[in-house]
Amino acid sequence: MLPGPILIIACRKCGAKVRQMSLLSGNTFGAKYWSDGYREAPMLPEYPLITKCPGCKAIYWLDKGKRVGEMDPFSSDPKIPFAEKLSVDDLLSFLKLKKQNKDDETYLRRQLWWELNHSIRKKPGSEFPTTQRTQLMENLERLIPLLNPEDEDQAILKLEALRELGRFEEMDRLRVFVMQEYEWPAEQIFDHAERGDAKVFELEDDSRVFRHRLSVAGVGYYDYAEEKAQKNLRKGDILTLRPEPHNPHDKKAVEVLTPEGKKIGYVPKPQNEKVAELLHSNVELKATIESVYMELPLYDRVGIRIQYGH
Ligand SMILES: [Zn+2]
Repeated sequence: MLPGPILIIACRKCGAKVRQMSLLSGNTFGAKYWSDGYREAPMLPEYPLITKCPGCKAIYWLDKGKRVGEMDPFSSDPKIPFAEKLSVDDLLSFLKLKKQNKDDETYLRRQLWWELNHSIRKKPGSEFPTTQRTQLMENLERLIPLLNPEDEDQAILKLEALRELGRFEEMDRLRVFVMQEYEWPAEQIFDHAERGDAKVFELEDDSRVFRHRLSVAGVGYYDYAEEKAQKNLRKGDILTLRPEPHNPHDKKAVEVLTPEGKKIGYVPKPQNEKVAELLHSNVELKATIESVYMELPLYDRVGIRIQYGH
């Protein structure tokens, strides 16, 4: 982690100063990710954009404060406190104070969401106190219309917000907006929704999962060409992956078969090279059916999950 310069910002009302940290570079080593998009990354901390003045207690955006100086990141001056992030109460009162523009309100409501979820983060499996639960619900109801599903970062947040509200049936409509890099959290979010769980959870590490959902290619051509047959495929069914080195079109082709040897199709081409390589080097791969969505086109209908190691 490489800290950037520290800006000294003075409150425009009373002149009290705070230090605003910045980061030149960092990494996500040792990071924990949560379903609501919150990240605990020791090497990539997120600094607040808005703070409460330690002098007059006014709440202000740091870029609207007065920049009065800069500090070397490695020096320290205990007289000037760090700009603190806002508490739940501060966020609520600031949101009530005046109408925010869309981006600012989205930022504030996301912060509020994260702050409220911290109690569950600290004690997974615990329940919200009633007031907090009401605050969370109200906040999410207001956040959802602000999130644009066509923005890939916002689509995944919207999906999670709907889940935490228990509006599970509305989640499927967002599936088409989830971009490939967010498929792994999205599948875990859908899994929790299926179980009726509406609380924030820590995302499972993705590193041992090749990809959470790959769509089987060629479903329309083999033993599962007919819808009637596809309906027999069940989530969790174990599959066999078999390299097909003599395939005339692609020597990296990998067949996807049921344990009885019936052919569903192929590992999609963008991923088959990696899978073929792993199979060739005798890495143990576990493939299972992740989902079958009859409403999706054939090329996207049968999703599988491939994991390696144990
Ligand atoms: Zn002040």
